[in-house]
Amino acid sequence: MAARIPYWNINYGVIIDLLAIPVILIFLYGLYLQWQGIKKGRLRVIPSITSMFQGIGTFHPAAFFVKGILNAKIYRRPASGIAHGCLFWGMVTLFVGTNLVILNIVFGLPVFNGAFNRWFMAFLLDLAGLLVLIGVVFFLLRRLFMPERLKMPEARKGFVLVGSLLGFVIITGFVMEGARLSAGNLETGAFVGNFFASSIIGKANALQIHTMTWWVHGLLALFFIAYIPFSPLVHIILAPVNCGFADPSPGVKMGVMDFSAFDDEDAEELPALGADKLSDFTRKRFLDFSSCLWCGRCQEVCPAHNTEKPLSPKGVIVTMAQKLNNTEMDETVIDSMSMEAIFNCTTCAACMEVCPVSINQPKTIMRFRQNLVMEQGQIPELMGKAVSSLEQRSHPFFGTPSGAAEWRKDLEVPVFEPGKTQYLLWIGCSITYEQRAWNIGRAMVNILQKANVSFGILEDSRCTGDPAKQMGNEFLFAEIAQQNIEDFSSLGIQKIITMCPHCYNSFTRHYPKLGGEYEVIPHAAFIKMLIDEGKLNLDTKKTGGRITYHDPCYLGRRNGLYEDPRKVISCVGNLVEMSRNKNESFCCGGGGGNYWAEETGTRINQERAREALDTNADTIAVACPFCLLMLTDGVKKYTEDTRAFDIAEIVDKFLKDIPET
Ligand code: SF4
Ligand code: SF4
Repeated sequence: MAARIPYWNINYGVIIDLLAIPVILIFLYGLYLQWQGIKKGRLRVIPSITSMFQGIGTFHPAAFFVKGILNAKIYRRPASGIAHGCLFWGMVTLFVGTNLVILNIVFGLPVFNGAFNRWFMAFLLDLAGLLVLIGVVFFLLRRLFMPERLKMPEARKGFVLVGSLLGFVIITGFVMEGARLSAGNLETGAFVGNFFASSIIGKANALQIHTMTWWVHGLLALFFIAYIPFSPLVHIILAPVNCGFADPSPGVKMGVMDFSAFDDEDAEELPALGADKLSDFTRKRFLDFSSCLWCGRCQEVCPAHNTEKPLSPKGVIVTMAQKLNNTEMDETVIDSMSMEAIFNCTTCAACMEVCPVSINQPKTIMRFRQNLVMEQGQIPELMGKAVSSLEQRSHPFFGTPSGAAEWRKDLEVPVFEPGKTQYLLWIGCSITYEQRAWNIGRAMVNILQKANVSFGILEDSRCTGDPAKQMGNEFLFAEIAQQNIEDFSSLGIQKIITMCPHCYNSFTRHYPKLGGEYEVIPHAAFIKMLIDEGKLNLDTKKTGGRITYHDPCYLGRRNGLYEDPRKVISCVGNLVEMSRNKNESFCCGGGGGNYWAEETGTRINQERAREALDTNADTIAVACPFCLLMLTDGVKKYTEDTRAFDIAEIVDKFLKDIPET
């Protein structure tokens, strides 16, 4: 078979090539406009071209490749994931094929000869075009029968236009190919082209059809390319970049505010206390807003949105994306969402976990919350009381009848002795002041004593400050954290066991930025270690029955600890999983300071308790005092039995003394 001839049956085909030059310039101009928009944000994470090499440390090539290029997260929803895969990989293949044709025209690269022509230029390119067409049809049909997550609060405009355009590019390409083959010979491998040639086009008008569709295909393709940066398809460029610049470690990564400028009389600029206008956000946040697909996957998993509260993480990000295009940098934008929505966020990070383009939604919400609290003094009433209690009494449990030492009444608990004690057992505020949580501390003391661990507590411990941080009061958090760090330094504390994932998160994520570096281990991991080392003698004759485990957001999604608690549970009972577990777990509703919230709509803890009880488990295990309190309360809607227990309480019931040897 003779090799294909460039511009066969076409006069002045070079016009398309020449038109490609302005098209590429328009494409680049569109990207330049996108960059101009993103560049208006404060320079923190995304480096400008000139500072690229200083900022390169924040770029994560593996995340760029796995999440951005391979689109690893998109396949969590199989149907749209596969359709997206068809579209993306089909287009990549067609892009390579088009460039090979250009190389053939310019340099005579022999791409239309032999097996390469048969398997790549004919078969693979036909297959790629077909896959793109399948993807386009899928996404256009989905625009017609839109799921709730795409519609609410608003559907993105422009998808139908750009999708239809791409569909026409592919169809005209196939008709053009069919006409070429019909006028000559069918080609082994070109299965779609052959089908068009033999079944649809016929010999009679093949030459005219070929000429006509060649031009239409070429012009449509050029228009499509020029339109990409101005259409929703711009995400094919922005999304991988956003994935590359997102911190791939688990959690929201709120950072710690630097207030030193407030004490510096020469400071020219004071730090923004949260955000109420666009100019308060960094370039990374602007990149987040611009990269959003408006897919609503975040909204679908959000515990607040799922329980009829006004918060939608998608709503927050798309509102900001729209503001980016039509609002002045110094105009206030915080009014575009309600205070209730801003405080509804439990900071559970479920939205971040599912976002296919690695957007950090909670960080934007928290920046608004910080502004409301620290700049405007606005906070829901109960949260305000908790913050006042933290200010006055170093713990947020206002109105508690408990004293600081009540949880350990009648219990011999060693106090940390500098130079002698190895671990500080950090009690935290919830175990100290909430009666239902006392037993976590008591159980853990028993476990540590049975395992002969060298540990001690602080006589008068205060809160880590985490609730203040979650409720947006960074000042108060920094103040409490500094006091704790000073106390720890004076006692020479280096190793800490926590029973509350919020304390663990504060000690490991935030305290180091304030100068407090410790070796911190959550109690679930510590118990697992003691079991592995044979330091706990568990009564294997008893059985704990069916136990389901609720992943606390601050241990699981925010810190990646999923397996240790499950291994501990499996030592004493049969682990049964809830439908949403591990990184897809559903929040108990207590995070983000919402333990102190007056909830509207369905209560999140009741929703989660129902899911736990649906497993027919005898016990709901948790590894967080806040989850314990929330689920203990949530279960009451369905049963009077006490079903929720902390992992330490469960293990404690199975402990036997280690026989003397
Ligand atoms: S962090 Fe949780 S509660 Fe907050 S917006 Fe995301 S999913 Fe919703
Ligand atoms: S933030 Fe992420 S998950 Fe949410 S709509 Fe945008 S792209 Fe989708």
